[in-house]
Amino acid sequence: MSKPEPKPWIAQIHAYVPGTSTSAGGKRLVKLSANENPLGSSPAALAALAERHVAADYPDPDARALRQAIAEVHGLDPALIVCGTGSGELLHCAVQALAGPGDEVLMSRYSFSLYPLLARKVGATPVFAAPEGYGASVDNLLAAVSERTKVVLLDNPNNPVGSFLPPAEVARLHAGLPPDVLLVVDEAYGEYVDPAFQSAAFQLAAAHENVLVSRTFSKAYGLASERIGWVTGPAHLVDLVNRLRGAFNVSASGQKAALAALSDQAFVAASRAHNTRERARLAEAIAMLGNHGISACPSEANFLLVHFAGAVTAEQALAALADAGYAVRHLPSQGLPCALRITIGTTAAVSDVIATLRRLCGEAA
Ligand SMILES: *Cc1c(COP(=O)(O)O)cnc(C)c1O
Repeated sequence: MSKPEPKPWIAQIHAYVPGTSTSAGGKRLVKLSANENPLGSSPAALAALAERHVAADYPDPDARALRQAIAEVHGLDPALIVCGTGSGELLHCAVQALAGPGDEVLMSRYSFSLYPLLARKVGATPVFAAPEGYGASVDNLLAAVSERTKVVLLDNPNNPVGSFLPPAEVARLHAGLPPDVLLVVDEAYGEYVDPAFQSAAFQLAAAHENVLVSRTFSKAYGLASERIGWVTGPAHLVDLVNRLRGAFNVSASGQKAALAALSDQAFVAASRAHNTRERARLAEAIAMLGNHGISACPSEANFLLVHFAGAVTAEQALAALADAGYAVRHLPSQGLPCALRITIGTTAAVSDVIATLRRLCGEAA
């Protein structure tokens, strides 16, 4: 009465909770909590960022050069690409375009923590399909579709699990959806998967009227700070996202950095190779701690979801890793109180994580 009151669905929303970078005591930690690239950014991108530009001028509102370059790298039509302030902005636009109060936005039980917020922001209800293991189950997603379902959000690979649905499973999910339900395939970690699988979702989106695919420069491209993502799909969906996105939503420095980063595919390949090697090393070390109740979900992304079911608890591991100088992601708010999501860091960081977990198990044994 005496002050502005938010819409009821807005009142339920909390702000997005990012990965931490300090310990409980305020000590600065190396972040293994936000899935950033431990190799940093491409030198070409850093050089582009160091170039002078006219900060007083608005950027290209349509990111034309960047969209052209993305199209060339992926064999896409630049007219069917929209760039955003991170892919998060574009996911929001897609949900906003198709869902509102009374509607449902469907996702797997363990998905990107932003997804339920996106549903609630537009007044829709997030609906969680039961997982298989911890990853997405096509059968359970399809069984959870109702008349109210407007959008299905699939992060593939998934965050926080790291699980990956192969192209045939994504196609089966799509084939089982009513044609008026939008399937968004969020490939934030797409560059980390087997290159043989990397264009399947683009082909699905090109062949149907109800599929959007999102990508980002925040992960393998190492440009999270610049906030650049993009989506592609059929013209009518791309047009909706384009109408809803912010004007001038990608900064001039972001456009330049992304353009330069695209030209340095060797950096992306090196990032993938580092990740594949170090993820396998961490997974192998964790498998050896199985008799201490510690296990990791198979991952195709740049992190591992590590479960603590024995004498060593997730809280103890979180504290010990902080003592060793590392911030990892504890996920009780996502229904995973006994798990930590650990980003694959530098070789030294992975060695430190392994040593810390081994020491904890030695102490607990
Ligand atoms: C990190 C991440 C993104 C990327 O968000 P940006 O806004 O592009 O930085 C998108 N989806 C998932 C599942 C992620 O984990």
